Amino acid sequence: MCNVQTVATGPWYSSRPVGDDVTLFWEPYVHSFAQCNIWYVRGKDRDLLIDSGTGLLPLTPALSLLSGRPIIAVATHGHFDHIGALHEFSDRRAHVAEAADFATMPDALTYADWFRGLDQPVDALPVEGWEKSEYQIKPAPVHQTLQDGDVIDLGSRQLTVLHLPGHSPGSVGFFEEQTGMLFSGDALYDGQLLDDLATSNVAHYEATMHRLRDLPIRIGHGGHGASFDDRRKLTLVEEYLQGKRLQGCPIGP
Ligand SMILES: [Zn+2]
Ligand SMILES: [Zn+2]
Repeated sequence: MCNVQTVATGPWYSSRPVGDDVTLFWEPYVHSFAQCNIWYVRGKDRDLLIDSGTGLLPLTPALSLLSGRPIIAVATHGHFDHIGALHEFSDRRAHVAEAADFATMPDALTYADWFRGLDQPVDALPVEGWEKSEYQIKPAPVHQTLQDGDVIDLGSRQLTVLHLPGHSPGSVGFFEEQTGMLFSGDALYDGQLLDDLATSNVAHYEATMHRLRDLPIRIGHGGHGASFDDRRKLTLVEEYLQGKRLQGCPIGP
């Protein structure tokens, strides 16, 4: 039984434009640790959706206001807060290291069991009678696996896939060289980074941080938290590498 009994009164998804023909969506009623940044990138021929939130309510209706172009939906990795609505899309892509599990979405991939275990996973119910104990990620078999160096072509713009393992084995980022814009998922964001999950790997994370340190960016859009410029990126990377940041946080994915 969820402590909260009231159904959300406002829209489940909030959104705001962030420049570069990109819109940020998020779920304001979801527990702050599970509030993922959902990025919608508009192209000439196709649009790109980077992550899809917890899936507690359909995401597609919120996006359909934006464009009629085909949508490529990618997952930065397989944690529940990033892939909940992925099943709604007809072109789904994820890194080869995690993609096979998207067909069944086991807790070992998604950590949905962590969300079910929260006292109050939401501040308001998505629908009347919603029960956290029934929360599961719907299977979303991947149509195309991603590998480092792959290019996603939206017509007018191209984003290169960066394999950024450490937080999870199949974590990826997307870099648009033309604009210097990086979507870094949970590999890097302005907040507490998690490298002690069962599927995390600290050595891989350190290698990822070295790679990100050497990649000049204009702006970084992470999987959580506020966006960052190159200077802030360097601070976040250095703090992680120097062990200043709190590692091994037990609060969630
Ligand atoms: Zn996350
Ligand atoms: Zn994660």
